[in-house]
Amino acid sequence: MLLSAVAAFAKPTIYILATGGTIAGSGASALDSSYTSGTVTVDKLIAAVPEINKIATIKGEQISQIGSQEMNNEVWLKLATRVNELLTSGKADGVVITHGTDTMEETSYFLDLTVKSDKPIVFVGAMRNSGSLSADGPLNLFNAVNVAISKEAVGKGVLVTMNDEIHAAREVTKTNTTAVDTFKSPNSGKIGTVFYGNVKFYMNPIRKHTVNSAFDITKIKELPRVDIIYSHANDNPDFANIAIKNGAKGIISSGMGNGNPFPTVLEALGEGVKKGVVVVRDSRVGTGETTLNGEVDDAKYGFLASDNLNAQKARVLLMLALTQTTDKAKIQELFLTH
Ligand code: GLU
Repeated sequence: MLLSAVAAFAKPTIYILATGGTIAGSGASALDSSYTSGTVTVDKLIAAVPEINKIATIKGEQISQIGSQEMNNEVWLKLATRVNELLTSGKADGVVITHGTDTMEETSYFLDLTVKSDKPIVFVGAMRNSGSLSADGPLNLFNAVNVAISKEAVGKGVLVTMNDEIHAAREVTKTNTTAVDTFKSPNSGKIGTVFYGNVKFYMNPIRKHTVNSAFDITKIKELPRVDIIYSHANDNPDFANIAIKNGAKGIISSGMGNGNPFPTVLEALGEGVKKGVVVVRDSRVGTGETTLNGEVDDAKYGFLASDNLNAQKARVLLMLALTQTTDKAKIQELFLTH
């Protein structure tokens, strides 16, 4: 009796913050590939996996109820602020965030850069909706809670747990439109595994995150406009020109190969730099570093390079960088350290 009372007292408190997505989606039948994201509430998500109550004191909160293609700055600021409050106040020992898979890589990196806690923050979602045959959400959620209570997850920054794998937020990306093994970290690999709740880590993320990051959500009230311009053969500068004309403070140029824009786009971006827009070259290739002064004369045009972040993650970092400075050397340094 006494032992079980002590065990109950020792259970960690994990908050599950729900934002929507397929994990909270439902379709007309178990074999229906068309469905609506974000129809199942956080209480129902938790009730579907009673096993998590044995390992943690679970509390649920609904932050939003959207498909993650609708993700926006307001939800990012609200979510990061709430996670920061829960962890720094001591109310939570860890946080699990249920999220659509489309933009999970961006939201998780945003929190990785802005939340000031080394406690576990774990993103989870599903590729099959909750009513689907062989839905992956319940086991993914069980595994995510196990990662969130793991002592080894402390200090690793924000994590994404899907399909029995654990990925670092900076590295992870969605690589397949429909497959359950869609999440990969193409530059560095997964950092751990979680098999029916058995958590194992193999690597540590070393870039600056959470407590060591240059950014702090308590100091960020709004985010500047940063656009992504995707490059292709026979391109034209219209999108670059309109982004500059319409007030983008930063542009991620998702160039060909080692971040090479089409010549007319290169010149348009160079004109943008002269008008004060911060342009970061990135690559549409998906893996590898975009190197400074490769085929593009970055010194001449005043461009920066994204290191090996993909365009959507480079956009998150540039938005945050622009809340602090427009100094290009300082922003380049942030790209080389975060
Ligand atoms: N578009 C939806 C979303 O990101 C579905 C993707 C998913 O959750 O798997 O919320």
